[in-house]
Amino acid sequence: MVRKRSILLITTGGTFGMLPDARGFLQGVAKAVPELRALARISVAAPFALDSSSMVPAHWATLASLIADRMDDFDGFVVTHGTDTMAYTASALSYLLDNLRKPVILTGSQRPLLEIRTDARANLIDAVEVAIQDLPEVAICFGGLVLRGNRARKWSLTDTRAFQSPNFPALGEVGAKLILHPERMLRRSGRFRLRPELDPKVLHLRLAPGLGGSSLEGLDPASVHGVVLEAFGAGNVPLLEGREVFPLSAFVARGVPVVIVAGAEHGAVDFALYDGGRRAAHEGAISAGDMTAEAAVVKLMAALGRAKKPADVGRAFAEDWAGERS
Ligand code: ASP
Repeated sequence: MVRKRSILLITTGGTFGMLPDARGFLQGVAKAVPELRALARISVAAPFALDSSSMVPAHWATLASLIADRMDDFDGFVVTHGTDTMAYTASALSYLLDNLRKPVILTGSQRPLLEIRTDARANLIDAVEVAIQDLPEVAICFGGLVLRGNRARKWSLTDTRAFQSPNFPALGEVGAKLILHPERMLRRSGRFRLRPELDPKVLHLRLAPGLGGSSLEGLDPASVHGVVLEAFGAGNVPLLEGREVFPLSAFVARGVPVVIVAGAEHGAVDFALYDGGRRAAHEGAISAGDMTAEAAVVKLMAALGRAKKPADVGRAFAEDWAGERS
């Protein structure tokens, strides 16, 4: 007889269901989704129960160490999570769980598990079914799509297909059949290890016409260790001199790296394309390529946490840690 795979189901809160403890959650799930037992042997952990908009980097570290500690005990992991910051947590887990060999699948829902017309039931069944496959990645399974976690973005507040992956194709689709695309998955060779270092002092700004000196007055420079700037288009910054120009070189001169993400959903930063991009590169900005802002913000926190010297941050962004950039 084929051994049923074992899954650690980790509940963290969100719309899916903020049931207070592991036992309550297991009971709720057993009642609402009894067929899960046919798929896998399920154990439950409940490290916290939060609306995901209240989560901070310390929660990512808690989740990553919980998964790392139990890595040898389970075949796969499913994390139920609020949708608001799921893409950040997925990015964080993909970096912190370095050289991951097992599936870590995040899911959630637009409506709570115990409500009528809930999408939580289908998403949970799909996530568990994906977590018992050979998928050595952190993925988001939601609304019938299996997306690389650090490529995904929250897309819709109402559609049951709430996440999209603008710059990387889906790892799989779950419809009448589960279809996975192994040729798109990561190939791992190094040793699995937990890399919990994170420096949360990252400021995420979106450039708007006129965002510059006066709008940033009062910002305590010491409180910022890195900036992610969503520039215009392919990474352009304004060229006219004056107070209302983002003080990129001033941050860089202070040893604060500035990472630029593209100003459109689809496509990549290309500093060479326009004078505004060449200016950004000249002033010392680091390109995030085709990374999402979520993946770039968390990578900057991790890169700052790991860096021994400022140049290490630029080098980290040129590297591909977990398939987050092309
Ligand atoms: N505010 C909720 C959360 O992110 C939304 C959801 O779960 O869909 O926790």
